Amino acid sequence: MVAEVIVDIAHSDVDKIFDYACGEEIQAGMRVVVPFGRSTATGFVMRIKETSDFPAEKLKRVFRAEEDYPAINRECLMLSEKIAERYRCPKALVLRLFLPAELRTGKASERYRSFVQIAQGVTPVFSASAKAQAALFAYLEEEGETDAAILRDRFGSAVNALIKKGYVTVEKRRVMRDPYSDLKGENLNRVLTASQSEAVQKINRTEKTVTLLHGVTGSGKTEIYLTLIAEQLKQGKSAIFLVPEISLTPQMLLQLRARFGGSAAIMHSGLSAGERFDEWCRLREGTAKIAIGARSAIFAPVENIGAIIIDEEHDGSYSSESSPRYNTFDVAFLRAKYNGCKLVLGSATPAVETYRRAKQGEFQLIHLPDRINRRPMPNVEIADMRREVRRGNASPFSAVLREKLERCLNDGNQAILFLNRRGYSQSVMCHTCGYVAKCEHCDVALTYHSEEGCLKCHYCGTHYHMLSACPECGGTHLGYVGTGTQKVAGELKKLYPDARVLRMDNDTTSGKEGHFKILKQFSERKADILVGTQMVAKGHDFPSVTLVGILDADMSLHFPDYRSSERTFQLITQVAGRSGRAEEQGEVVLQTYDPENYILRFAVTYDYEGFYQHEIAMREATMFPPFAKIVRVMVTGGDDGVTLEALREVYEKLQEVYAKHSDAFLFFHKMHAPVKRIQNKFRYQVLMRLTDASVLKSIYNAVSAVKRKDVLIYVEENPANLS
Ligand code: ADP
Ligand code: ZN
Repeated sequence: MVAEVIVDIAHSDVDKIFDYACGEEIQAGMRVVVPFGRSTATGFVMRIKETSDFPAEKLKRVFRAEEDYPAINRECLMLSEKIAERYRCPKALVLRLFLPAELRTGKASERYRSFVQIAQGVTPVFSASAKAQAALFAYLEEEGETDAAILRDRFGSAVNALIKKGYVTVEKRRVMRDPYSDLKGENLNRVLTASQSEAVQKINRTEKTVTLLHGVTGSGKTEIYLTLIAEQLKQGKSAIFLVPEISLTPQMLLQLRARFGGSAAIMHSGLSAGERFDEWCRLREGTAKIAIGARSAIFAPVENIGAIIIDEEHDGSYSSESSPRYNTFDVAFLRAKYNGCKLVLGSATPAVETYRRAKQGEFQLIHLPDRINRRPMPNVEIADMRREVRRGNASPFSAVLREKLERCLNDGNQAILFLNRRGYSQSVMCHTCGYVAKCEHCDVALTYHSEEGCLKCHYCGTHYHMLSACPECGGTHLGYVGTGTQKVAGELKKLYPDARVLRMDNDTTSGKEGHFKILKQFSERKADILVGTQMVAKGHDFPSVTLVGILDADMSLHFPDYRSSERTFQLITQVAGRSGRAEEQGEVVLQTYDPENYILRFAVTYDYEGFYQHEIAMREATMFPPFAKIVRVMVTGGDDGVTLEALREVYEKLQEVYAKHSDAFLFFHKMHAPVKRIQNKFRYQVLMRLTDASVLKSIYNAVSAVKRKDVLIYVEENPANLS
């Protein structure tokens, strides 16, 4: 037999099939060790065939298989080829996505334990002095097979004595590490409401592969997902359930554990290497049927998939920002098609692009306009921070927020204060009138670059002088607004010495279970106020939270990104959605320097449709996605001269594409990346905006034709960050 092998070296020079002779034991999907050049390499068997075009006597032989099972199943092998083709990256790099890192690095450790039980047909006789042995025997009669370590703890050397006498047998077996074994939740298993069961039925009945579940925060989407999964499980099928940041959603984990027990495997980066490996094994073997995790769980080794769910589908974490730069939806769609199953996207604030596709009939669209039990949405009040500044209030809290915070604390309820640290980037704002410096050509916020002392547009590269006064009102009180969470927490302590304040941001949440602990404390009501960044906006369900304060609502509006309006709307809706989820009416205070802003207006009235209509019209008028595609080719390297040469070469190749298809281009320029150097790598880019995505292929071709030592060249589609 002949094995077609991709060697596990992520380099385009060796990114091709190599034929090796092999025995019957080698199967497609196995990892194998093969002779390679003058040494050996690990590789993936893509296919097995009868003969090779290569002369048989020259064919080298596979040394051995790394495991006695195929680490990658047939579907995933095929998927890997499609992804490699789509994003033009080495197949080895894609294949790695399907494996726990531990397997590749050879550090995977299976954990074994010994179990002791009474040997068959023995009639033991114990001398009067062998009390411990008799007790141990009695214990085993009562309890049955038991972990040897536990027995040794209790009965000491009596264990070995019984083994010697042949009264008991020992069996060594593999055990799975169980992350979150201490999570004990109750299985709520709720009776679905009429709209929930209607949604489930619609999803099951539709001919369409994809359903978009557009349900307001607290409309009970989770229960719908769980029902869909349970139904598939009953039919012997498996499921994939993606959430943006699983470590941020302890309640979700609790529910999944309570409902599905060991059938659910949790895959996330916070697990130890061993735990991750075991969860992967359980899925591959089929002992676990539900893969739950962040974006990478879409590569779970499950077979016979009955449902794929992407919760909070709008979340930015679903696009990979390192190679391969895949989009999770695209991979999920391929898997759904292959398995003939349903793909469900859920969100209170769908991405504009997703919503458009649903409206155009490509996806089924289901609305859940009401919260469970028709609980009202929280009331949102806008606080005009310009007025606060005029009144001499320099604190991060408006008067109305303080008043409501006091009431909330006095009533014994909890509050969440949200700061948009992402917007802490260097956009320039006038504190007197709320004016924000924008690009004349692109209508996106300019970014201040301190090293050059200028303002830059990340979409067209135009430079502007730093402002000395506000062009709108002449005020000179210009700055980069935004206070840190630390400062806010400090101010709270001063104002409310008795309140227990928890802070959650990237600084406080290092370590394996950093966020988890903080959220757990908060949900157990060990704190009154939670101050945090984006992390507090995710799908938490804290019943005692009745007040949410959004301290700097407009900061993300001025992020240098064409999606900044969309992001702002999403953020506000999501954070506001944390308030008043139980019996008590929730409240939200939204602080802004720009109270007339239409995005904020739509957010305050929970008018997604209105927001969407406005935003899509805007995108069409300015020709931004989904009406165009932004493509950036990055060229980075440690040597400026070599990198620049590579850029020139890439640019020349791209120019040929441009010359041929200039109609498809709205914009085509090479330039320095806005940040010229990161970690000593020089950064250049060719920025394009395309009206016709079919030229993408030619762009990828052009780019992959250029190769330079120590220069990294890659393509980004609609990148989330253009710095
Ligand atoms: P979403 O994911 O849409 O924001 P959740 O699934 O978190 O909403 O549901 C909101 C709240 O309603 C949760 O506390 C949940 O336990 C509760 N809930 C969901 N479905 C039901 C139901 N059928 N009956 C009673 N309570 C429900
Ligand atoms: Zn511009």
